[in-house]
Amino acid sequence: MTTLVIATKNAGKAREYRKMLAPHNITVKTLADFAPIAINENGTSFEENATIKAQTVMKNLNLPVMADDSGLAVDALDGAPGIHSARYAGDHDDAANNAKLLRALASIPDDRRTAHFHTTIVALKPDGAKLVANGRVDGRILHERRGDNGFGYDPLFFIDSLGKSMAELTADQKNAISHRGAALRDFMSQFPEWWRA
Ligand code: IMP
Repeated sequence: MTTLVIATKNAGKAREYRKMLAPHNITVKTLADFAPIAINENGTSFEENATIKAQTVMKNLNLPVMADDSGLAVDALDGAPGIHSARYAGDHDDAANNAKLLRALASIPDDRRTAHFHTTIVALKPDGAKLVANGRVDGRILHERRGDNGFGYDPLFFIDSLGKSMAELTADQKNAISHRGAALRDFMSQFPEWWRA
């Protein structure tokens, strides 16, 4: 067994995952390498959605698959936008999502603007072996955008220990502290055993 499929079409994600898996001598493919597969992402948690993605692709291709699901959880909004982060304002539009978030928090003072990003990675093999990895990063939602790097809610997500928004970090700095970086490290720590099983 030498091929692992990453259930994403996002080139940036694929590049990061490929880099981590490079030492393992595995052929890494993504959804871009196959005919389109319909995925009905209707779970109620990050883990459920990542599992649905991994399972759908695994059943179609009969190959080992890894999938992830991420989002922003804001405490004052009871965890919203959560699994709805990508389409919080209706469409997949970062500027509209950020504007909606600022409106929702307009009357919320600094000490109650706490939030975290979360990522769950699920990997499945055709024989049923499952790996679940998680990562998170804690921060606070700013009152206005700061920085031009990154994507999504990065310009509004402030990390106290660094004194910077996520969008003011370089890609390497972000990977070192981000939810996705943490989940990837958790994934890689479990990967050899899951791959061999
Ligand atoms: P996905 O599951 O990784 O595609 O993430 C879903 C949505 O969560 C994205 O469309 C963004 O709105 C938000 N999100 C996830 N990760 C990040 C991040 O690292 N920075 C900013 N927003 C993110």
